[in-house]
Amino acid sequence: MSTSHDENRDRLSRRRFLSGGFAAGAGARLASPAILRGLAGGAAGTGLLSGAVRAQGNPAAHRFLLGTTEIVVLTDGGLSLPASTVANNVPEEERSAFLAAAGHDTATRASALNVTLIRKDDNLVLVDTGAGMNFFQDAGRLADSFETAGIDREAVTHVVLTHGHPDHVWGIVDDFDESERFPNARYVMGAREWDFWNAEDFLSTQPEILHSFALGAQRNLGAVADKTTRVNADHTVIPGVTMIDTPGHTPGHMSVLVEDGGGQLLVTGDALTHPAVSFERPDWQPSTDQLPEVAAATRRQLLDRAATDGLLLVGYHLPWPGVGRVETKGAAWRYVAEV
Ligand SMILES: [Zn+2]
Repeated sequence: MSTSHDENRDRLSRRRFLSGGFAAGAGARLASPAILRGLAGGAAGTGLLSGAVRAQGNPAAHRFLLGTTEIVVLTDGGLSLPASTVANNVPEEERSAFLAAAGHDTATRASALNVTLIRKDDNLVLVDTGAGMNFFQDAGRLADSFETAGIDREAVTHVVLTHGHPDHVWGIVDDFDESERFPNARYVMGAREWDFWNAEDFLSTQPEILHSFALGAQRNLGAVADKTTRVNADHTVIPGVTMIDTPGHTPGHMSVLVEDGGGQLLVTGDALTHPAVSFERPDWQPSTDQLPEVAAATRRQLLDRAATDGLLLVGYHLPWPGVGRVETKGAAWRYVAEV
């Protein structure tokens, strides 16, 4: 098969990445090497994988209504990263003191994977597809969560992809039999984001450290290319569900605004990733943000809008189920979980 070479390369890259082989490549200026060092440390580490996430005993699904629109948050499991990934532009002592004061572990960062489903009229819109089976041991549970929640994956009519990172798009294809997990869905993704990961010259123009991400993205996105609409900001997915531009975490990152009955819900994707740092220290630069300054500007804009307009949020990586609101706190903000 023509794809076998690519798949082998993909697997090889992932294996290198997961075994920490990419750590030797540190030193590039992009924030992304730190992601990979961080993730490699988590994956190859001492069995800490998502222990904290698992210990919360997350149910598979959390449901609520926004007007007449049903929102279902499904878990894809969790990730465990070094706490240092919350900021790479502040001294370690300052970072640890802040995390400790906010009640967070100073060594390990447990990160949830909260996938949002929006049911309105005959539409069932899924925002991101989870990590699939090849990224992290305790991720890739989305299909199980669908089953536990009694929701048929074949009933998903639209899949919106916020960005091309592994924990958001590697769940498109089932690696066991190469089948699509959401076979009846149309896909929607920001055009800039699609173009970034699918660039033909990606491997020769982007740092090697991003190559495994891109190979995985190309494999999964490629499988649904014919049914994917590449869109610009303010695209209406279905009436009441709009994509908004929230760049910085990745070049073309987008979030999803749901409006019904006077209420507004923002599915943030990875524009906000930590319940204390993202809100109270929005200028700290997580090592997972590819364009840190752009991401910080986006965060400030989002937080201001969320606090002013009383938006409800679903944060992909915020503590399960990641549903909450934003309040101002001094010169910054704070996260108020709703559950
Ligand atoms: Zn993510």
